[in-house]
Amino acid sequence: SKSSLQGYAPICLGLEDFYVRRLYLRIQDCFNRPISSSPDAWFDLVERISNDNNKTLKRTTKVKRCLNLGSYNYLGFAAADEYCTPRAIETLKNFAPSSCSTRVDGGTTTLHVELEKCVANFLGKEAAIVFGMGYATNSAILPVLMGKGRLIISDSLNHNSIVNGARGSGATIRVFQHNTPSHLEKVLREQIAEGQPRTHRPWKKIMVVVEGIYSMEGELCQLPEIVAICKKYKAYVYLDEAHSIGAVGKTGRGVCELLGVDTADVDIMMGTFTKSFGSCGGYIAGSKELIQYLKYTCPAHLYATSISPPAAEQIISSIKVVNGEDGSSRGAQKLAKIRENSNFFRSELQKMGFEVLGDNDSPVMPIMLYNPAKIPAFSRECLKRNVAVVTVAFPATPLLLARARICISAAHSREDLLKALEVISEVGDMVGIKYFPAEPEKQ
Ligand code: PMP
Repeated sequence: SKSSLQGYAPICLGLEDFYVRRLYLRIQDCFNRPISSSPDAWFDLVERISNDNNKTLKRTTKVKRCLNLGSYNYLGFAAADEYCTPRAIETLKNFAPSSCSTRVDGGTTTLHVELEKCVANFLGKEAAIVFGMGYATNSAILPVLMGKGRLIISDSLNHNSIVNGARGSGATIRVFQHNTPSHLEKVLREQIAEGQPRTHRPWKKIMVVVEGIYSMEGELCQLPEIVAICKKYKAYVYLDEAHSIGAVGKTGRGVCELLGVDTADVDIMMGTFTKSFGSCGGYIAGSKELIQYLKYTCPAHLYATSISPPAAEQIISSIKVVNGEDGSSRGAQKLAKIRENSNFFRSELQKMGFEVLGDNDSPVMPIMLYNPAKIPAFSRECLKRNVAVVTVAFPATPLLLARARICISAAHSREDLLKALEVISEVGDMVGIKYFPAEPEKQ
């Protein structure tokens, strides 16, 4: 059925299963490829492992230097950095790679305390709590905040970590059409009357869950409209800023800053450190009471080992650079660069005739391939020309909406982007994915 093809359905059944398995056999070499360097603007891709035993050893040792259009290294911090790297190395010496303990036992170092203050200040929230994994932040927090008798209203294209967290919570789940505030309001109105006091509702709590930038669509959330509807119906707003925090907004504060939404109107701010901050882990920021409650009740805080200290230092240092607290203007330059790079690349792709999803300012740029059978040709031909792109197919997208997902970074130079455009244009002609007429060159 259509619904099982939509979004992030983890299990494929019947005909879909048959089709998907055959397809993945054809395209498996386009995924899970080892990298042997940092995910900078260029990286080293280990050559494909051959099934031919005689050749395997030789081929695996060979690397290919590729232009990296796939990593979430939006601000370029996931590479040697003059401010962050020496500090992370020093932390490695002083604190070791792991705290080897949960937060409540011996796993809260001075760095974890500093990091939580730093994140709360950065977001303009009272307090924050950090976790070792972004995925686990969503999937562990939603079950703590929601449960039986509560209602989660989730965007139809929310990330799998949200879907899993929502399902695991035991709450009732309703889905609204992707990024469509009018449909969100319709779903809310089906559940409660406008102005109905919270005490008279059939639900103990209602939470609307959205993303800042949708990772497979490159689209900005219609946050101002969604926040206004949530206020009207007294529903909580949960915002996942994995792809927007640090990447958009004049000072890197994400979609709230970009779209002029007061962070006081977003009850639960979630985000990850694996993208703009070049580290690992995730956070929840909100009121003091909320964070205190999570610190006492969330199993991922009570039972999981804390973020690795060097990773925590990397986040603190990169936030300092973004804030200009390192005494340089590099942070502001990076933010200006990612915006300029993203808008340049998107408009050039569109001029060439590609169908590119998403909005201006978003560094995530899906180029539509539609037919998943186009994935291997697109991926391999780009790679032959030393350009590495991520291709996305079912179940991360609906079956016939396969795409190449480009992620632009502040680390890309104009020269890098021009090379990428040249290659993508050539391969796009070869594979037949320029769906619109190209704009004539201006004299
Ligand atoms: N939320 C969203 C919207 C994501 O795209 C991702 C992963 N890209 C996550 C959460 C999980 O974050 P992490 O990869 O840092 O675990």
